[in-house]
Amino acid sequence: MGYSNGIVSAQGKQPLVSFGVISDVQYADIPDGRSFLGVPRYYRHSLLVLQRAVQSWNEQKLKFVINFGDIVDGLCPKAQSLTAIKKIVNEFSIFDGPVYHMIGNHCLYNLPRAELLPLLNIPSHDGHAYYDFSPIPEFRFVVLDGYDISAIGWPKDHPNTIKALKFLEEKNPNSNKNSPNGLVGLERRFLKFNGAVGKEQMGWLDCVLHDATTLNQTVVICCHLPLDPCASSSESLLWNYDEVMDLIHRYNCVKVCLAGHAHKGGYAVDSYGVHHRVFEAALECPPGTNAFGHIDIFHDSLLLSGTDRMESQEMVLNC
Ligand SMILES: [Zn+2]
Repeated sequence: MGYSNGIVSAQGKQPLVSFGVISDVQYADIPDGRSFLGVPRYYRHSLLVLQRAVQSWNEQKLKFVINFGDIVDGLCPKAQSLTAIKKIVNEFSIFDGPVYHMIGNHCLYNLPRAELLPLLNIPSHDGHAYYDFSPIPEFRFVVLDGYDISAIGWPKDHPNTIKALKFLEEKNPNSNKNSPNGLVGLERRFLKFNGAVGKEQMGWLDCVLHDATTLNQTVVICCHLPLDPCASSSESLLWNYDEVMDLIHRYNCVKVCLAGHAHKGGYAVDSYGVHHRVFEAALECPPGTNAFGHIDIFHDSLLLSGTDRMESQEMVLNC
């Protein structure tokens, strides 16, 4: 098991704060399998990856952890969903500090959001799962709810479910709305396992970014679904990633967007100089290997130090 993949601590500088990251644990007590595209998935081993991550984060005395969603796999037998989710949340709780969760499609295949959000300790109003926090005065983290408008997770007759199903009907001609067959290029994101940020959340994001600008804070956006086509496959993008990025680009405070969902990971810098880092999935680590990391925040950069399959990345902030 190799540790510390690549770049070592930036010129010995002391970070302002450091936090742990992991994505797509997708635990289930079922035998190993493969994705739709044939990529091996290690449903039981991913729990061990998480345990090693928590141990490493505690040893490094990190200030907090962000989990980028999909803690339990959709193939988890439904009678075991609650137990499996509690088991993973409990592993996270061994971390000696706050853990900030976000929801992914696989979480929502297991439990409706009304049950899920309290278990994940996500601050919520009306069942929404977006929030922000500021671990140090200079930085603000914004956690987006990528399944705000979604055909999964809300009750069947909820306006957001109806809106999402109507949207998919217009955008995706396949009877299986998880199939991108016939969709071209960026249209391939119009799949049922993705979702969108709704109007009210856009208004909230606008206010948060305005406030952060006033306070001279640097903002890091976190979302289960990626927001940049160059950092992820088209099939994994937020439905309205373009609208969200248009709003983000109106401000100068957002420097980094972090995401999960697209298991192989990715990195790109967009035309406004915003860094987009999509994390490699813990689920796809062959036994004995890892995919987790920690990020050191400096005034002028963020440095991701990844283990094994998680690539390290220095993100220099363009101020
Ligand atoms: Zn996902």
